[in-house]
Amino acid sequence: MKKIIVAIDGYSSSGKSTMARELAKRIGYVYVDSGAMYRAVTLYAIEHGMTADGKVDREALVAALPEIRISFTPAGSDGVQHTHLNGRDVETEIRDMQVSSLVSPVAEIPEVRERLVKMQQEFGESKGIVMDGRDIGTTVFPDAEMKVFVDASAEERARRRLKEMQEKGMDVTYEEVLDNIRQRDHIDTTRAVSPLRKAADAHVLDNDKMTHQQQMEWLLNLYNTIVNE
Ligand code: C5P
Repeated sequence: MKKIIVAIDGYSSSGKSTMARELAKRIGYVYVDSGAMYRAVTLYAIEHGMTADGKVDREALVAALPEIRISFTPAGSDGVQHTHLNGRDVETEIRDMQVSSLVSPVAEIPEVRERLVKMQQEFGESKGIVMDGRDIGTTVFPDAEMKVFVDASAEERARRRLKEMQEKGMDVTYEEVLDNIRQRDHIDTTRAVSPLRKAADAHVLDNDKMTHQQQMEWLLNLYNTIVNE
């Protein structure tokens, strides 16, 4: 069967990573979480004193880019692929609120995007990949055979994200999570380089009222239609 590239884009906490990961597993493809890469760069900036008062020292971070190595380990016993920053497993740290509140300003920096997009394109060289993010179908893989744009309301996304964070023992309120989601939506859709946008040829998955199983069926049907064309 022919191997394709699957690009899944959408707003923060729309559930796209869970879907993308499961789709990759079901069809035997590699899964890459591009958001985790922007988060790892953000963690590096925080740990190296390049952030203060919600702002990022762009010059220092751009100068340090050659020092930043990001890799993934295949899914382990927890079924989750772990993100590594310069050889250290940072899968938990990159999901915390401090990283979440600084990641969109970091992702706005053109040099950061240029470097990460190049790495992402290398991951897709031999196809057979599912990648999720904000600009995968528009910038990273504009020729991807299957493009999906996931949509859901900010309130529904905040409820899901809060549940996820509370399950991990994080101490946050619904208002904080909703506020962070709205801020990220704003920065992600209005930034100058590769703003979050639906690609003209993307299929829209509005998952506000769909169960996880319905979403998976929808994705698998679309995938099967495309590979059998
Ligand atoms: O997907 P996730 O919410 O983990 O992504 C974190 C942030 O990384 C997003 O809010 C966005 O600012 C940035 N991002 C991006 N382009 C991507 C993936 C993520 O700008 N392809």
